[in-house]
Amino acid sequence: MDKIYDVIIIGAGPAGLTAGLYAGRAGLETLIIEKDEEGGQISQTAEIENYPGSMEEESGYSLTERMSKQAGDFGAVIIKDTVKEISPEWEIKTIKCEKKDYMAKTVIIAAGTTPVNIGCPGEKELTGKGISYCATCDGAFFQDMDVYVVGGGNSAVEEAIYLTRYAKKVTVIHRREKLRAEKPIQKKAFANEKIGFMWNSVVKELKGDGFLEAIITENIISGEKTEIKADGEDSSIGLFVFIGSDPKTEIFAKHLKTERGYIVTNDDMETEIPGVYAAGDIRVKNLRQVITAAADGAIAAFCAAKYIESKI
Ligand code: NAP
Repeated sequence: MDKIYDVIIIGAGPAGLTAGLYAGRAGLETLIIEKDEEGGQISQTAEIENYPGSMEEESGYSLTERMSKQAGDFGAVIIKDTVKEISPEWEIKTIKCEKKDYMAKTVIIAAGTTPVNIGCPGEKELTGKGISYCATCDGAFFQDMDVYVVGGGNSAVEEAIYLTRYAKKVTVIHRREKLRAEKPIQKKAFANEKIGFMWNSVVKELKGDGFLEAIITENIISGEKTEIKADGEDSSIGLFVFIGSDPKTEIFAKHLKTERGYIVTNDDMETEIPGVYAAGDIRVKNLRQVITAAADGAIAAFCAAKYIESKI
């Protein structure tokens, strides 16, 4: 018979890795299934300065590496596979993946979120050719170039600051005249002379022959359209998009209650199906941060252990 894990965790971001650490430490047979890179969205974050105890200039990547090692040291096994379907209703839950099926007494869904696209003409065609969703991955390609960032939240403003390491100038294109980003992050950006702002503006079209060459924006108050083109010898510009994220809940939504796509849980991370938990950005909550994801993961693993104990 195939192995039955005590807990299977879907996703190896801060929520999943912390759940793995707590479950492993509680002596549970723990499997973490991750389809991409460990770390989830933070693997692409240049600097995490608000996670307690994070080191100076701590990157999402380095924090993830330590979290992952810690979970592994306590016995959690991390594998690469893509979850296709889950059958969570039975006492023993089945997780169908691309490579193999797995079984577990409890499941913690910590699959996180995925970046939202602008959805304008040219975006799809020019992604990876001047348009990016990850400053840490692609920032260095834009050395001494003019770079534009779309969005006004923490991600957009933090990544705009990061991009000033490489770019000649970074312009934040935001649809309102007030940033959503937290005040300390805003303050840093306003103090950075390489950063400019285009307020009340949205991106309508992206043009380029093989590489991004022009951004068409529209002022939502005046309706005026502007074509931003690379100046001087540069024939290309860069555009980084940070306009929020969508939860990765398609395969879970038919089994679990969701609100605007996010999984509904109680304070113990329990969903309405016994033995099934959700943790991190994928669940309905007010504050999506590394610390709240980690806290969710710890609570979910603790409650999964209690649930298993109650069945003995
Ligand atoms: P977010 O906070 O949801 O911000 C999204 C931004 O994109 C908003 O400014 C929004 O404008 C804008 N936007 C949304 N749809 C748009 C569209 N179609 N066209 C143009 N602009 C659009 O997303 P986020 O910045 O990715 O952050 C996600 C979560 O992670 C947040 O909870 C954030 O606090 C957290 N986070 C935390 C840190 C940190 O603590 N260091 C770092 C990164 C992210 P409006 O403002 O007008 O709505």
